Amino acid sequence: MPLRLRLALLNAIVLAGAILALGMLTYALEARSLLDDLDESLHTQAGNLTTVYQARATLPPRTRERVIPQPSVFSGPTFLVQVLGTDGSVLERSAALAGSTLPVKEQTLLRAGEGAEVFESVLLDRQQMRVFTTAMVSDEEFLGYLQVARPLQPPLDALATLRTTLLGAGAMLLVVSMFVAWLLAGYSLRPIGRITQAARAVALSGRLDSRLTPVATRDELARLVETFNAMMDRLEGAFTAQRRFVADASHELRTPLTTIRGNLELLRRSGAVRDPEMGDALEDVIGETERMARLVQGLLALARADAGQKLELQPIQLDELAHSVYREVQLLAGGVAIRLSRVDPVEVIGDADALKQLLLILAENGVKYTPPGGAVTLSVVYDQSDVVLSVQDTGPGIPPDVKPHIFERFYRAPTARSQGGTGLGLAIAQWIASEHGVQIVAESEPGSGTTFSVRMPGRLVTAPPEPRGAAAPELAPTA
Ligand code: ADP
Repeated sequence: MPLRLRLALLNAIVLAGAILALGMLTYALEARSLLDDLDESLHTQAGNLTTVYQARATLPPRTRERVIPQPSVFSGPTFLVQVLGTDGSVLERSAALAGSTLPVKEQTLLRAGEGAEVFESVLLDRQQMRVFTTAMVSDEEFLGYLQVARPLQPPLDALATLRTTLLGAGAMLLVVSMFVAWLLAGYSLRPIGRITQAARAVALSGRLDSRLTPVATRDELARLVETFNAMMDRLEGAFTAQRRFVADASHELRTPLTTIRGNLELLRRSGAVRDPEMGDALEDVIGETERMARLVQGLLALARADAGQKLELQPIQLDELAHSVYREVQLLAGGVAIRLSRVDPVEVIGDADALKQLLLILAENGVKYTPPGGAVTLSVVYDQSDVVLSVQDTGPGIPPDVKPHIFERFYRAPTARSQGGTGLGLAIAQWIASEHGVQIVAESEPGSGTTFSVRMPGRLVTAPPEPRGAAAPELAPTA
């Protein structure tokens, strides 16, 4: 989940909790206050009526009715009044009760008789009522019980309205605050988004010398930028040191290697090693030294590439280059036929030496991996304002699990280990292609050969004079 959404949601959860707690508290206080008001009014009314009854009790029974009417007459229509005798029987009821009787519980009368003032919520004709019951006493004489009631519905209605209002306002507040939190989170996270974009650009460009623009503030973001830039400093330092080490090491190794190769060659030619076993050992050493020299050469080329070496691109005749590679590869061909199929006279923008090296790597690989009797075919074909350079062999092909790795440095397929390669050829070829803004494509079916091709922009030119030695499109395998 995005950080922005998480922050907004977190904010909403906290706020929802606060709104809920506040709403519940308001509701509880209001409910309490409404009930207290109701009870208070019942209590006052009961007090007034008790006074009337007590006054009535002082009169002789006969005159009572004439002097003071029934107490319930003093009660307004909002109050329901019921008077019980000392035995709990209903003596009189106010007109508002309209024939109904307020429920009389034994337990209530017992408690009222002990002097308690009892408030209860009861059901009368399916209506909720609040009933107050008290005992009436005049000059130590127990007169009976007085019950005063009011409907609970009005306060309940008021509470329902309050609940709806609180819920509506709370929900609205929540939505608004979530929206505001979303905006605020977006505003606070915007610099992080900028930093992420800049860091991604650094990662995509692969340029270790790129840095993020420092932030003027003195906050966490400024520290993040500082830390990122410091990390890039260290990375760049480490990479530069490593590159320099590889370049220096390969450069330094070249001289002793040249000396060793010279001396070994001298030894071979001098005929001093006569013992055939020693002769084989000498050939092995020469072979491995040649491989080592190629390895060092490859390392140096890649170290220079890593150091940002740029090729000099200019118009070159690719067909001439193909002919030249064709001639060179014949010298190494062994039992493999080297062929030139179609070679169109084309011009591309490129580095002649580098493109020749690329072609040589592909062609030499073809020769290396194709068993004697097979063929390696070079071609340069003009196709819709592009030039397609390809090297096709009839070798064993590249297994699908090997194919994704062939352009990696030092990668050699397990089956290719005996071929004396270095694992750097295709990595160098790939770099040369990428410097020309193109890619090498390998198509291979195990068992039916491999085709490496490079498609690059070019144009057809008038055919130059045919170079000597390349006239024949196909040569017989050289021994
Ligand atoms: P190497 O020095 O081992 O040839 P490369 O980088 O030139 O190193 O090639 C990497 C791997 O790609 C080789 O080890 C081999 O397995 C595979 N490969 C390259 N070219 C061919 C080819 N023409 N046919 C079959 N496999 C090949």
